[in-house]
Amino acid sequence: MVKKLSSLLCIGLAFVSCKNNPNTASGDTEGLDAFNTDTLVSYIKTLSSDDFQGRKPFTEGETKTIGFLQNEFKQVVLEAGNGNSYLQDVPMVDILSHPDPNMQVKSSKGDFQLKGLEEYSISTPQTDSIISLNNTPVVYAGYGVVAPEYNWNDYAGLDVKGKIVMVLVNDPGFNNGDTTLFKGKTMTYYGRWTYKFEEAARQGAKGCLVIHSTAAASYPFSVAANGWNNSALRLDNKGEKLLDVQGWITTEAAKKLIVAGGQDSGILAKADIRGFKGVALNETVSTNIRTKVVRNQSHNVIGKITGSKYPNEYIIFTAHWDHLGIGTPDKNGDSIYNGALDNASGTAGLIEFAKAWKNMKTPPERTLVFLAVTGEEQGLLGSSYYAKNPVYPVEKTIANLNVDEVNNYGKAKDITIVGQGQSDMEDLLTEEAKKRGRYITYDPTPEAGHYFRSDHFSFAKVGIPALAQGFGIDVVGKGKEYGKKMQDAFNEQHYHQPSDQYESSWDLSGAIDDLQLLFLVSKRLAYGHYFPGWKDGSEFKAIRDKSAKDR
Ligand SMILES: [Zn+2]
Repeated sequence: MVKKLSSLLCIGLAFVSCKNNPNTASGDTEGLDAFNTDTLVSYIKTLSSDDFQGRKPFTEGETKTIGFLQNEFKQVVLEAGNGNSYLQDVPMVDILSHPDPNMQVKSSKGDFQLKGLEEYSISTPQTDSIISLNNTPVVYAGYGVVAPEYNWNDYAGLDVKGKIVMVLVNDPGFNNGDTTLFKGKTMTYYGRWTYKFEEAARQGAKGCLVIHSTAAASYPFSVAANGWNNSALRLDNKGEKLLDVQGWITTEAAKKLIVAGGQDSGILAKADIRGFKGVALNETVSTNIRTKVVRNQSHNVIGKITGSKYPNEYIIFTAHWDHLGIGTPDKNGDSIYNGALDNASGTAGLIEFAKAWKNMKTPPERTLVFLAVTGEEQGLLGSSYYAKNPVYPVEKTIANLNVDEVNNYGKAKDITIVGQGQSDMEDLLTEEAKKRGRYITYDPTPEAGHYFRSDHFSFAKVGIPALAQGFGIDVVGKGKEYGKKMQDAFNEQHYHQPSDQYESSWDLSGAIDDLQLLFLVSKRLAYGHYFPGWKDGSEFKAIRDKSAKDR
């Protein structure tokens, strides 16, 4: 739609200023030579050295990391990205939730207790010293989804103000078997637990319990329950609507509540049938959460190259600089979570992008923003803060290109698109990959919702078309099995462990290929006036169409 509209608008206008998805010649390789394995390695080595202490927000590791990045940005001769500053302050609050061990249930069918951590797990995003559920009514609201583009509203006719809503994880398309319902097995954002909490808060609920099932969540209850008695960082965003209580409940415990509330537990399975209506349960729950709150400030690092022709239109490159810091030692006694691949590598790639663009003979017509974000590991906090407090107007931000980890096992024939069918950015990547003799593969487990799990997603949520790519596995000369084996080996042995360290055995030639490909995509956007959009059926299309009116 957006594409068609813009080409109609092009008629009668000078086409220099209104190009529709301008294509570059396949021989247009200017800038690619700037990408260099040696410098990429040197940035990775520095950022992931023990000296940087695992780059945890608020630690000396942060001070060193943001110092290094500011220095590099200045050396590349990027302009300061936030007024005169290369930093954006990101206020955060660390909340330790200490819940009562049990939850009291009062129902017409008798009173009983649910056991914390075994049957449910809760925490609070609020900063009050104590949060109480005091005979709070419970409502079952199906999937807890309001999706106008699918003509679906689980909250229609339900009064949930001040109550606890219990909702299913994933979206109606997951269990139904109908591939045309939502996106079938592919998880839409409506399926993510973060969405469930956001929507429940918008509806005025006091709390939200997501009903867990391993298949639908893609991880076991123990993972979902890890907020129990644990501290969590969140943004200190004043005025944001938040729940008092949020968490997970096992399917068994949810059935207990439904039956005690006077309903048949069969209603759990009926929520994916169009026309299903949620119900108020005839019962109340009581429990408390005590909190310990610490406020602190972390930083995004931001630089830019001002566009020569459309300085007020922006393309944002991102990579998260943070990792997990110093923590539990591994079996070798190493306690520094260096995060070499995750995400010193992407941060190094961000500097490579900046260098390549700065070296271009023809400067970009639009403004390029280079943003190294904090707090990804704690829930996409730095990118989310930027998206909610943007330095540059959201409606004039053309696109986001994000790098979270790079391929360290050699050149691959393919590159993976995560979140198939979301935006026109995928078409640009597909076209550029083809020109480089490469092909596209798609995320093999779209039901796990990977598109919603890295920083590009913070931009998608406010409507900015954002590309998410993963590494290829079809390794040149070695095949797909080898690529898959290398990916699995990293995930099992090094992911989020102290052993995610730079090794001289790494082959970053494939990383350079991928970075060059993304650079070529950015060239398609940096010259001319093309605005990529979201595809029909994308849950982010409506918000972009709305904000595009302010352009
Ligand atoms: Zn990570």
